[in-house]
Amino acid sequence: MNDDGQYFYHPLENIEDVDIFYEAVEREHLTRALSPERPYTYWTIELYDQENGIRGGGGLGVLAADTRRVAEKMGVPFTLITPFYPFESHQVMREGGLHDMHTPVDYRKFGFKFVDQVSVKCHGDLCLLDVIEKKFKNTRIISITEPNFGELYSGMSGSDHRLYQEVALGFGGYAALKLIGLKPAIMQLNEVATFFAALARLDELATNGMDFYEAVVYTRKHTLYTNHTLVQAAEAEFSYEQFEKYVFPNLKSPAVKKWLSDKFSHGHIKLSSVTIEIAELRSGVSKLHARVANYRDIAGNKVKFKPVTNGIDIDKWILPKIREFYEENGIIDRFGAPMPDFVDKLSSLTAPKIRELKSVGRDILNATLKNRPDQNGRILKFSDDDFIFDFKRRFVDYKRPEMPFRDPARLRNILESRNAHYILTGRVHTGDNVMYHKLLRLLHEVAQDEYLRDHVHYIADYDEKLAYGLSVGSNVAINVPIVGLEACGTSWMKDIGNLNVLISTHDGGVADGSINSYFNVSGLDEIEELDMLYQRMEEAIATWENDFDLEFVTKRQLETFLPVISGARMMKDYLDYLFPK
Ligand SMILES: *Cc1c(COP(=O)(O)O)cnc(C)c1O
Repeated sequence: MNDDGQYFYHPLENIEDVDIFYEAVEREHLTRALSPERPYTYWTIELYDQENGIRGGGGLGVLAADTRRVAEKMGVPFTLITPFYPFESHQVMREGGLHDMHTPVDYRKFGFKFVDQVSVKCHGDLCLLDVIEKKFKNTRIISITEPNFGELYSGMSGSDHRLYQEVALGFGGYAALKLIGLKPAIMQLNEVATFFAALARLDELATNGMDFYEAVVYTRKHTLYTNHTLVQAAEAEFSYEQFEKYVFPNLKSPAVKKWLSDKFSHGHIKLSSVTIEIAELRSGVSKLHARVANYRDIAGNKVKFKPVTNGIDIDKWILPKIREFYEENGIIDRFGAPMPDFVDKLSSLTAPKIRELKSVGRDILNATLKNRPDQNGRILKFSDDDFIFDFKRRFVDYKRPEMPFRDPARLRNILESRNAHYILTGRVHTGDNVMYHKLLRLLHEVAQDEYLRDHVHYIADYDEKLAYGLSVGSNVAINVPIVGLEACGTSWMKDIGNLNVLISTHDGGVADGSINSYFNVSGLDEIEELDMLYQRMEEAIATWENDFDLEFVTKRQLETFLPVISGARMMKDYLDYLFPK
């Protein structure tokens, strides 16, 4: 096909190293494959981007928002397609319990403009979806929305409502792209809830003159499935009946319908199994995750995932003063990627400098906490001399938020030795009674102890602001997922970039580095692990008491992880994978 044909594909030249890559970006050589009309498209059911009016649920959404921000900075033509949920939920702590609050959100207040409407067929009706758009310099967010769209992750996974949301994003989002006049150069599917976008493309190709098998080959070559989940077995299934209501009516090509029908097994389908079929490019979100993710294709073969470790947008997550310090001292470049000699340049980071920078961060933390009382209704304010441990992540079982509380007497001793505070924050997933009761038990335990009551603080409604405030303002971050269950995690990246001491199990993206590059927690069983966690907390306190140790530990973390956490590095890895020589 030529340029007048619908789909034209130029491979990018191989990007050998960062310098050549930036030159390519600057001379707009990227436009050979990517152009404003033919962008990199990124599909996600969740976006966590409060600045743009969209609140997500956790890491998957934060990653999506950071990916777009990094693309914007690097000049990559990039379009992110996601639902705009007309309601968002917040949790408030009242009378010792957590309560969900639902607040409406108006996209107009966040710079989105109404474009037009598209429709999808759902359960015998035509559902109209508003297409809205927010444009940046070289990136944009396209959203589809309607008043009954509901909230993110409303309803059970596998429910009709979820399927409707996913179909609306896929078929509606694809129609929205066409409406706006964009053709995807590449489709990155951020988890399987976005499968229907690739299906919509396959259907379009197969009804617009391409032979069915050609259409499959073409779609596969231009689709990247990014997996964030470890076990396929845990995934919810949809039934054939559900597809008859929501999916098949949206397909025009009988061959695509037949292809999809054949993928059902005993009347059920897992979206991962068909996403694997429709995407030849597949990635996992850390080295460890790509290796251990256990997926099989329909033929029963183990699926290989290319490791592309998540990164963060340095400008968004690193304290501006720290970011300036990195750039002025030749540690990172203007895109936030480490300079080739950044390890040498780290010698400019001295303990007094670290303390000075953290003091700026502490003020930001105090400002963040001003209207966010702890479980006892207290407003917290910390001086530079106060010592803060934090645990900030979704309250889910495998992340073990309760782990440091298993031996309250020992925790108390550690905190007392430095008169330290422990700040705990993380949302309990609505309807997760097990974790909700774990949280209540933990708070009850803390309330029984006079010392812990004043030094352990739970802050409700964990969000980006709180994540940022704690990253810039605390001393030590605790990250103890059960090894093998964290896909990547990005909170710890915010901590390392902001010069906190990290205590972590060797899991997710942390395992991209060596076990000696941070305060590692390991053991043959949970008892050993717990003992090591407490030892590490003691060591972390001692580290902050001693200039030499503080310099050594923070530099060691940065030497290993600065390239890992760089969002620019992640974008380069994706482009290298998508456009090989
Ligand atoms: C960074 C961030 C996350 C990511 O959390 P992980 O547990 O590290 O994956 C989740 N939620 C919010 C609000 C964040 O800012």
